[in-house]
Amino acid sequence: MFDQSAIDPLRHASVSDRGHFIDGRSVPSMSGETLDVVSPIDGRAFTRIASGSPTDVDRAVTAARKTFEDGRWSCAAPAQRKKVLLKLADLIERDALELAVLGVRDNGTEISMAYKAEALSAAATFRYYAEALDKVYGEVAPTADSVLALVHKAPVGVVGAIVPWNFPLMIGAWKLAPALAMGNSVVLKPAETASLSLLRIAELASEAGLPDGVLNVVTGSGAVVGEALALSMEVDILVFTGSGATGRRLLEYSARSNLKRCYLELGGKSPNIVFNDAADLEKAAKVSAAGIFRNSGQVCVAGSRLLVQEEIHDDFVAALCRQAEALTVGDPLDLSSQIGAVHSLTQLESHLAFVETAEAEGAERRTGGGRILQDTGGYYMAPTVMTGVKPSDTIAQKEVFGPVLAVTSFKDEAEAIRMANASDYGLAAGVWTADLGRAHRMIRAVRSGVIHVNTYGGSDLTVPLGGMKQSGNGHDKSLHALDKYVDLKTAWIQL
Ligand code: NAD
Repeated sequence: MFDQSAIDPLRHASVSDRGHFIDGRSVPSMSGETLDVVSPIDGRAFTRIASGSPTDVDRAVTAARKTFEDGRWSCAAPAQRKKVLLKLADLIERDALELAVLGVRDNGTEISMAYKAEALSAAATFRYYAEALDKVYGEVAPTADSVLALVHKAPVGVVGAIVPWNFPLMIGAWKLAPALAMGNSVVLKPAETASLSLLRIAELASEAGLPDGVLNVVTGSGAVVGEALALSMEVDILVFTGSGATGRRLLEYSARSNLKRCYLELGGKSPNIVFNDAADLEKAAKVSAAGIFRNSGQVCVAGSRLLVQEEIHDDFVAALCRQAEALTVGDPLDLSSQIGAVHSLTQLESHLAFVETAEAEGAERRTGGGRILQDTGGYYMAPTVMTGVKPSDTIAQKEVFGPVLAVTSFKDEAEAIRMANASDYGLAAGVWTADLGRAHRMIRAVRSGVIHVNTYGGSDLTVPLGGMKQSGNGHDKSLHALDKYVDLKTAWIQL
């Protein structure tokens, strides 16, 4: 790990204006336009990024297409691709703290989390897929003797990747590493408010020996750069993490252009269900608080709906509020802060509006609910617990994506299942119970891509992350993710 003295010299390090990364070098937008990068730590701009246009997207896609066709990466021996991606993992680890601090200045995540979940996790992801890439085989199909049928796994071509701001490095790596491992070229569009660390990854990839033009990054707004990428006739697949509203648009852009496959990882309103037979309610309260409040609730799998069995409701809510109030919210670059900043003023205002709506609909604010540390100029919100939330309330249905927990009580298992599934989303869930049979019944009954039992939020690279219902249609992580980045091609050979 590291201590505060390693962070402090990096917190105000000057960051020069950043261009796009196209064909192996940093270039300004054709229009010359830029966007200010505002830090949620203090509300101040500290650098600028290029504001891309469709012309910049075109340049990047052309570079990606050219490198894909000339085979410098797509036809490289797997051992060569592996060497480059392992080197990239090493370089990310070498610069992990610098990358993490840069990312925190951009997006506000607490540094202790960003170091592990962003920088180290990105390094681990590149290493995982580098190690996997030469274990992917084609098939010989069981046909009649007179025929030899082979199933090849071919790289798809140019991958368009669009990612959000909450964990840009981690989620970026979940797309880039398997895409590059399988020999594709990529054009990446980071969120306009969290581009810096991903631009740095592209530079490190170059340093690791990735050929020019294989990985390109175009920065700027979703409505301009993202749309142009999604409409491009030269992009073969789109991989996306973000909101459902944008996901729907991407499907439309695909239909309007070349029917490119779109893999969508979207939002959630995940139920965390506590039964009265749970073994250790204090521990459940502590883990449940972390499961909603870490990274200020800006976590797709956050347990944002707490369903508590009637008999233990009051005691459990009291324990949870104690845990919430004990969390130190503050400058995300101070190691003493357990919770950092809300990503932007827009996000913060949206969270406050959700709290107001919840109160208007009859919920009770038990703790938090307001902006704090306003004198810093930054965007901070107290961990917030709302009780008496009805399953149909706005706050039980809509994703807040902030530090706001909606609590509802239930009578029995059947009602818990009904409430858990009464959502358009199906990303994550949690169940706390000492009854093994009940745990397995809940695993089967709750419709979510991941379900945690007697914990909330654990994961690693070996397991897929994806959503059911309107939480998405694909998977990141694990060997399954590789399937997105290959086309199956059959060779039918008459002998
Ligand atoms: P968002 O949809 O607003 O933005 C995501 C990305 O899409 C950004 O890069 C943005 O610039 C781009 N974009 C916006 N409009 C676009 C358009 N018209 N065309 C193309 N691209 C466009 O989402 P966000 O606010 O950045 O992220 C928060 C959302 O992401 C939440 O819903 C959260 O749950 C979800 N998320 C899901 C996962 C998961 O694994 N399922 C992980 C993290 C976040």
